[in-house]
Amino acid sequence: MKHMNLSKWSIQIGKVMGIPIKLHITFLIILPIFVLVFANNPAPFGFSGVESTTLQYVFGGLASVALFSCVILHELGHSYVAIKNRVRIRSITLMLFGGVASMEEIPRNPKIESKIAMAGPGVSLMLAVIFALSYLLVAPVLGSDAPIPILLFLLGVLNVFLGIFNLLPAFPMDGGRLLRAYMATRMSYINATRNAVYVGKMFAFAMVIFGLMILHPLLILIGFFIYIGASEEGKATEIAMTLDGIKVSDIMTRSVISVSPTMTVSKLVDLMFKEKHMGYPVVDEVRKNVKGIVTFSDVQKIPRERRDITSIEDIMTSDVLSIAPDDDAFTALKMISQRGVGRLLVMENGAIAGIVSKTDLIRSIQLLRE
Ligand SMILES: [Zn+2]
Repeated sequence: MKHMNLSKWSIQIGKVMGIPIKLHITFLIILPIFVLVFANNPAPFGFSGVESTTLQYVFGGLASVALFSCVILHELGHSYVAIKNRVRIRSITLMLFGGVASMEEIPRNPKIESKIAMAGPGVSLMLAVIFALSYLLVAPVLGSDAPIPILLFLLGVLNVFLGIFNLLPAFPMDGGRLLRAYMATRMSYINATRNAVYVGKMFAFAMVIFGLMILHPLLILIGFFIYIGASEEGKATEIAMTLDGIKVSDIMTRSVISVSPTMTVSKLVDLMFKEKHMGYPVVDEVRKNVKGIVTFSDVQKIPRERRDITSIEDIMTSDVLSIAPDDDAFTALKMISQRGVGRLLVMENGAIAGIVSKTDLIRSIQLLRE
């Protein structure tokens, strides 16, 4: 549930409830570590007591995959309640420290926000109960040192941990969201966010200090992770509030110069020098329809000596992202950062009304803050 750009460095592994499930590159680093730890930990926290090395690793792998499936279920819990409240979920990404469900719009309604935040830890604690009950059923039959009871015990404990860790009252954890939602019922949303961010940072700070005292590297690392998450949430909310009420039409560049698909790249470079704009819509001269968008980074891919013989058509991006003039400026900012593009075309009734670029947005945010 963050505004971070996760789409780079992620691969999609499937779809649940229409939501793409993705693996972030950092997850691929942490997974083998988990397998190793589970395979070599003594019972009941691992399988080192299991007779063959192969079985140790098979169960270590099983426990790791099951753990991350539980993390996905936790995120699906958030997603399910979000969708029920008409909040769209773009994707669920598994990364270094668990999962992130990217919401299209974080609801500023404290009731809905707290319901969504509760759902994840709720699922984790429910899973913990299920694993605990299965353990109690299976352990007397197979013996508590057998691999299957160990697996059930381990998953039970880890889900309790997942549930409770996420309820810590610190951003970016679910508990931070609950804290904000609670405070937002008695103060403005922005002040509630500021306070919740402050609490999160203090929490992170205490964690790092404590981690240094007992020389626990993981605690220090998690402390840093919470600190960064809290700051990011604070910044994202400040920006959202700064842009509150601002429409795309208020900040877009209206005088749009479009270029023809048959124009050469060297002509385009001349135009860029003259106009000082870095991106142009590509419009078919006869049919007057938008064929794509061409930017300075597209030009850079073509060596200087080939620019006279290459036309814009060959280098443009035909997948044009567009937005309406009545849309919120914050929506434009989110689209730009989530899709990793520099600008959006502003379209009205099928015609180009303007262009809104990352630079336009950053400039507006700076001006509005003055
Ligand atoms: Zn959660």
